[in-house]
Amino acid sequence: MSLPHLTLKSARVRLTLTYLSIIMALTLGFSAVFYHQSITGADAGLSKQIQELRDNLYFTTTANLEQIHDVELRRFRDNLLAKLALFNAGMLTVGAATSYLLARRSLRPLEEALTSQSRFTSDAAHELRTPLTAMKTEIEVSLRDKKLDTKEARAVFRSNLEEIAKLETLTAALLRLARRSEKIDKTNWQSYKISEILQAAYKRLADKASAREITVKLPKTKAVVCGDPDQLVELFVTLFGNAIKYSHDKGDVDVRVHETERKIVVDIIDSGVGIADVDLPHIFERFYRADQSRTRSAAEGYGLGLSLAEAIATVHDGKITVKSTYGKGSTFTVTLPK
Ligand code: ADP
Repeated sequence: MSLPHLTLKSARVRLTLTYLSIIMALTLGFSAVFYHQSITGADAGLSKQIQELRDNLYFTTTANLEQIHDVELRRFRDNLLAKLALFNAGMLTVGAATSYLLARRSLRPLEEALTSQSRFTSDAAHELRTPLTAMKTEIEVSLRDKKLDTKEARAVFRSNLEEIAKLETLTAALLRLARRSEKIDKTNWQSYKISEILQAAYKRLADKASAREITVKLPKTKAVVCGDPDQLVELFVTLFGNAIKYSHDKGDVDVRVHETERKIVVDIIDSGVGIADVDLPHIFERFYRADQSRTRSAAEGYGLGLSLAEAIATVHDGKITVKSTYGKGSTFTVTLPK
């Protein structure tokens, strides 16, 4: 078991004990008050009865009456104490079980975050290692080659540069993901025309689209969104980029905008490769890539784009949903508040 999970286990034990002590403090407090009130009530009741006997029965001595009072009160107290002990033992058992379940429930989000964090770290390490291993192998092979000429050495440098470019892309994405988890400053957010955001996002990808003769149709709209313009552009760069990347050459990507009373809805519709049903629930997970994307464009992504886009949408109190038919195309829908 890893160190964070051990810490989590001890936190669970401590939280269980804390919950249990709160439950038992309340139960014991209640029992003490109940005991005190019951004994006072019984004492008063018995005294009243004794008084009535004393008033009405002339053949019994006062000493006997006092004795009866004490015996009855003792019997009542023993009975009450036995019941309260049973009640407290029951509460201890039920309380321990409830406390444990409550502690597990309270710590579950933390546990999930820890698990996802460690999976993320190992995925990131794996993705970082792949280009490093490729570079290392190439350099080692070249160094062993005594007759390596300048042309061959240049080819190795070129290939190494490609791997370094991949590392740069990956580390930049990792950095952006890390920044998303930091506290967001919303004080400078303003309203922007969504058409300008979409234009700015498209501008960054226009070359890629025209290189494969893909047409991206942008809508004419006066709708306005509130948020961080750079992040919103980044969100649409990811979605447009994917729509282009997973489209067939000469395909069309249609972007539509409509407004509801409080929201702006942007649909990005492509008629590309589509996403299989088995992959659909996972595509927003970090490092997740559908099998066909790994084989089709292994160099073109790390499976981080959608999780970044989703994080940006969430920060803006929005969301991204997807509908897709494998082999026919996908529609990503971004909903943002006005
Ligand atoms: P990347 O595109 O870098 O692999 P993303 O996080 O952007 O990573 O997307 C995750 C996966 O979702 C992709 O690998 C791909 O399989 C699938 N995907 C995303 N957008 C589309 C799309 N428009 N059409 C088909 N598949 C898509």
